[in-house]
Amino acid sequence: MKTALILIDIQNDFVPGGALAVPDGNAVVAVANELMDHVDLVVATQDWHPANHGSFVSMHPEKVVGDVVDLNGVDQVVWPDHCVAGSTGAAFVDELDVHRIGHVITKGTDPAIDSYSGFFDNGHKKETGLQVYLKQHGVKDVVLVGLATDYCVKFTALDARQLGFGVTLVSDGVRGVNLQPGDIEKAIADMRDAGVVVAKAGELKKSHMAGNGHFQHIKPQTIFETGLLYHHYANTAYPLTPGSFREYRINDATLIRKFLLAAA
Ligand SMILES: [Zn+2]
Repeated sequence: MKTALILIDIQNDFVPGGALAVPDGNAVVAVANELMDHVDLVVATQDWHPANHGSFVSMHPEKVVGDVVDLNGVDQVVWPDHCVAGSTGAAFVDELDVHRIGHVITKGTDPAIDSYSGFFDNGHKKETGLQVYLKQHGVKDVVLVGLATDYCVKFTALDARQLGFGVTLVSDGVRGVNLQPGDIEKAIADMRDAGVVVAKAGELKKSHMAGNGHFQHIKPQTIFETGLLYHHYANTAYPLTPGSFREYRINDATLIRKFLLAAA
C-alpha cells in the first residue's frame, strides 16, 4: 500500500506575479517540499494549455474574467490566459523541489475542454493517465497540496475519492481563488462530504514518524469517541490499544495519545 503526494499545478502563473495568481499561492511550495520525504512517490500535475484554449478570456472578447460560458456543452469559467504549454508561466515554481517529482501529468491540453481535475477533463470524458500511473505503482492513498483549493485541488480530490483512493487534503498546503466569498470553505466542505480527510502538514509528519510508514486515512475524532481504530481498507474496527498505535498507521498522533492516556 503506497502513498503518493500529488502536487497540483504549482506553476508560476498561479502564484503572485503570475497571470492567474492565487492569493498567497507561494505558501504551498515549502509545505510541498517538506512532505516529499514522507511519501513513497511524488507526482505533479501541470496546467498545460494551447494558446487558443477555450477557458481563455482572449477567446471570448465579449466576456470578462469570472464570467461563465458554454464550452462545448460544459459550463466554463473564463480565466485570464495562463499556463500556455512551454511558457515560463506554465513552468513549476522555482523553489519547488522538482528533482523529487517522479511523474508529471499535463492537463487542459485540448482547446475544446478544460481540466481542473488531475484525473479527467471537466466533461469526465477522457482520463489524463494519472489513475493508471498511480494504480500501476500500487498507490492506495493520495495526499494533496497545491493550487487552487476551490478548483483543481477540489476536483482532483473528488475524482480521487470516486476512483477509490484514500485522500488527505493538506489544509496548510493549499490556497484558493475565492472568486466568490466562501468558495474556499464550500470546497473544503464538499471534499469532507466525499470522505476527504483534512489535516495539517505537521500532523501528517508527526503521525508518519510515530507510526511505521505512511498516512492512514481514518477519522481521529471517531477513534477518540469510540475507542475503536477504524481500518479504512480492511473496513473493520479494531479496539484501540497501545500496540495498535504502532501497528496501524494513523493520522493524528496527538489525539490518539490523549485517548490512550485517558483510557489508562
Ligand atoms: Zn487552466
